[in-house]
Amino acid sequence: MPRPILASISISALQHNLAVAKKHAAGAKAWAVVKANAYGHGLRRAMQAFAEADGLALVEVDYAVQLREWGWRKPILLLEGFFDASDLPLLVQHDIQFAVHCKEQIAMLEAGPREAQYDVHLKMNSGMNRLGFKPDAYRAAYEQLKAMPSVRSITMMTHFANADDAGNPDLPFAEQIKRFNDATAGLSGQRSVCNSAGDLLHEEFAFDWVRPGVMLYGATPGGGSAQDFGLKPAMTLESRIIGIQHIVAGDAVGYGSRFVADKRMTIGVVACGYADGYPRHAPNGTPVVVDGVRTVTVGRVSMDMLVVDLSHVPDSGVGSKVMLWGADLSIDEVAFAAGTIGYELMCALAARVAVKETA
Ligand SMILES: *Cc1c(COP(=O)(O)O)cnc(C)c1O
Repeated sequence: MPRPILASISISALQHNLAVAKKHAAGAKAWAVVKANAYGHGLRRAMQAFAEADGLALVEVDYAVQLREWGWRKPILLLEGFFDASDLPLLVQHDIQFAVHCKEQIAMLEAGPREAQYDVHLKMNSGMNRLGFKPDAYRAAYEQLKAMPSVRSITMMTHFANADDAGNPDLPFAEQIKRFNDATAGLSGQRSVCNSAGDLLHEEFAFDWVRPGVMLYGATPGGGSAQDFGLKPAMTLESRIIGIQHIVAGDAVGYGSRFVADKRMTIGVVACGYADGYPRHAPNGTPVVVDGVRTVTVGRVSMDMLVVDLSHVPDSGVGSKVMLWGADLSIDEVAFAAGTIGYELMCALAARVAVKETA
């Protein structure tokens, strides 16, 4: 028997969540964001589950090409653009669209093959200060691209820092929208601004294309729980108890003896550790479900194992099923306990974990 840890990916949950994203953005098209191996869910599987998406967006050039080889015929978008002029022939060959976010990329396009036809997504830095042209440089970049015979279309895009926290005083959502609208006023072309939080919370700014990512996988982008948004968890990570210890007050558990019992306890050792993608920084008390009963972790997470309190799960023993996150325990709740976000947990699912598809 293989090591008992297993990630189950629900195809119907992926499909359901895409439908939720599309419903919030009625009239817009949807890029299903599948970067990072579809946020850990498997790129090929996601491609199949997202057959209803209008396009797939990611950041990895080689995976974009792979999607074509697997038969994806609809648009593909590279959200960070291309990284070197030598990428361009491949992108043209496979009809892969890309973001243009800096003058160096424009120079590479100008020096590139004349006969090429590009669909570019001109990115504005509307305040996040990650990728893109500042609003005052945007129009000039647009005109420069517009003048190039090889540029077939220009979509105007930006990305929000606080779509889930619209009133953030350091960069209110409304301020980013205003900068985007002002700088693109009168320019022709499609517009694309919303990530998951934008899609769910700011329907009025769906424009022509939305770019939902994390919501498709059933985790929250913030601003409410996944359940509030009607999302279904796509990934369930489960393993089993492989050992039991009975300890008394004063006994310590695991590396660094970070947990010390203050009473008699039964604890279970679970075949799941940070080399499986479980966060090492999860503190004592991180929620976990054993045989359908909620309990907590105790002690430091090690590479291949973590330890849970079984004092209140009297019928459990070696072989008991343990859910780390998923159908009965929100990944967001586990992430929150560990001081991170659902995104990071799902992306970190390790290659050694076996994956099973469920309906
Ligand atoms: C990752 C990404 C998204 C999706 O973001 P979520 O918060 O996961 O919905 C959208 N747009 C761009 C440019 C991205 O890089």
